[in-house]
Amino acid sequence: MQRMDQLTILKLGGSAITDKGRECTPDIPAIQRIADQLRDYNLPLILIHGGGSYAHPFVTRSDISRGLRGRSQLRSIAETEFYLSQLTRIICASLLLRNKLPVPFHPMSFVAFDQGTVKRVLLDPIRKALRVGLLPLLHGDLVFDESRGIGVLSGDRIASLVGLRLGASRVLLGCDVDGVYSENPKIFPNAVLIPEVTSENFPSVLRASRGPSSDATGGMGEKVRQALQLAKNGCECYIFNLKEKNALPRLLERDGITGTRFVPWKNSRKSSKQSRRIA
Ligand code: ADP
Repeated sequence: MQRMDQLTILKLGGSAITDKGRECTPDIPAIQRIADQLRDYNLPLILIHGGGSYAHPFVTRSDISRGLRGRSQLRSIAETEFYLSQLTRIICASLLLRNKLPVPFHPMSFVAFDQGTVKRVLLDPIRKALRVGLLPLLHGDLVFDESRGIGVLSGDRIASLVGLRLGASRVLLGCDVDGVYSENPKIFPNAVLIPEVTSENFPSVLRASRGPSSDATGGMGEKVRQALQLAKNGCECYIFNLKEKNALPRLLERDGITGTRFVPWKNSRKSSKQSRRIA
């Protein structure tokens, strides 16, 4: 049986595990390196992968993020689910080969929206998988919405949702840059990394991350919003570079700080429901 008071949620950003410039193209060496780095990690862990080039092109083209408005979008929904599960299987295979035991959970089957907000979520099977020592693997997904038909649940949002509801000790959001910068570092090479986000400096960090994004899920802005949601509720969060070889091992081993750390807010108190231990 696993002790759950040290639960970590790790999100594998689509920017780090797929080639976002080419449809349905995995970054196999990156996925294998991450699986290697997880091989000897034995504390409770939930993995979440982003969609990257397995989801964003279909979601953007069909405009599904604004709801279901025509039959032509149904094909895109089916295709998105098909390709997402391909990526899930690639990650599962890499983990299984290293004797890690992932079990996939598709949010479309356990989350329901209304007007873009989460109305229902069933986490018992994930709790049970964790308790027996399996490694739940979730992903950003399309979910049904009572009034809009369909909606997009980003990997970052499911990380904060599950992190808060299961009382995770921390949430690690991995992507392809070192953390949150004063401006998009891919466009502005002189941008400066923000090492720490607190209840004091958060408005300027929100502004810095709000630049335009071609992503269906809101890019760095969405990541920062979800990280703040976690910090405000007492959960530590990091945005870090999953492509940088030593960053994940250092975070897993709690060996110094890398990336941008969102410090839990001082006055925040997890509600009894959030902090309830799950074992
Ligand atoms: P993922 O797909 O891994 O969730 P995203 O592509 O959505 O990651 O977000 C990461 C990208 O956000 C970076 O590649 C970077 O180009 C962009 N970005 C925009 N603004 C910022 C900023 N202020 N700091 C860091 N990255 C930023």
